[in-house]
Amino acid sequence: MQLREDIRNIAIIAHVDHGKTTLVDQLLKYSGTFRENEQVDERAMDSDDIERERGITILAKNTAINYNDTRINILDTPGHADFGGEVERIMKMVDGVALVVDAYEGTMPQTRFVLKKALEQKLTPIVILNKIDRPNARPSEVIDEVLDLFIELGADDDQLEFPVVYASALNGTSGHEPQEQEETMDPVFTTILDHIPAPVDTSSEPLQFQITLLDYNDYVGRVGIGRVVRGSIKVGQQVVVMKKDGSTKAFRISKLFGFFGLKRVEIEEAVSGDIVAISGLDDINVGETICPVEHPEALPILRIDEPTLQ
Ligand code: GDP
Repeated sequence: MQLREDIRNIAIIAHVDHGKTTLVDQLLKYSGTFRENEQVDERAMDSDDIERERGITILAKNTAINYNDTRINILDTPGHADFGGEVERIMKMVDGVALVVDAYEGTMPQTRFVLKKALEQKLTPIVILNKIDRPNARPSEVIDEVLDLFIELGADDDQLEFPVVYASALNGTSGHEPQEQEETMDPVFTTILDHIPAPVDTSSEPLQFQITLLDYNDYVGRVGIGRVVRGSIKVGQQVVVMKKDGSTKAFRISKLFGFFGLKRVEIEEAVSGDIVAISGLDDINVGETICPVEHPEALPILRIDEPTLQ
């Protein structure tokens, strides 16, 4: 089994205000994904307006960060239970999660909600104990709380082995011990690279791409975001979209977009493990699978019933 060691796909999950946005900004800064003259005008994950289309809420953002020749796709997740369906869909695109917890506040209702979803999907977790600079931070107690929550939510033995990074996203420091803080985000990056599984390379097999999120762009129309689950996809390729009722519709991939930092950039080809956006057909919906014309094979339907009341 060949792995794509050049890529990691993770979701970042947290209770609101525990520091997801500040942390991703720091990761972008330390990775040098931005050129020196390129300014980050807005905070990473709050940059776009919320778009709603046909009842599907687009809240997820992908930030792609290059670190030591590895591309790390970091998908933001809404913490609120109202977006349960969307959280699950985002988690279908990743191999692991970074759980961010405030070192003073500890685990909160949304920590529980999103962690439960991640554990159910059998994702590999890492824990980032943020705000370690707070004078009243209580890291060892909070780690115990986190461990209790993992146990209560039914984490398996592998998930219970989660590594912990202590960080101050505000000050740009991190380390493997609360007291040993370096002015760098390297400990966060290396923990991601060492612990989150790399995607399996199935680039030589027939394409399967599942529309997981929808977006709309004035120039290209409807955009479907998802992970290349199997095979590869190219601009100009003739494909079919497999509708939920079992029918198929043929179309040509008109554009492919990859992610770079906070931007979407046009690319020519993507392969298994990549998270990309496609355009070319307005009649695409969440959950549908895109396949080669000669090899139509749908992936299991995704849950899209939302809001979910918990
Ligand atoms: P999000 O809701 O999880 O995206 O949280 P934000 O990144 O927006 O952070 C929420 C608040 O916590 C902001 O006022 C941040 O400045 C603050 N914050 C984030 N990280 C840290 C940290 O490491 N230490 C302290 N003291 N404050 C932080």
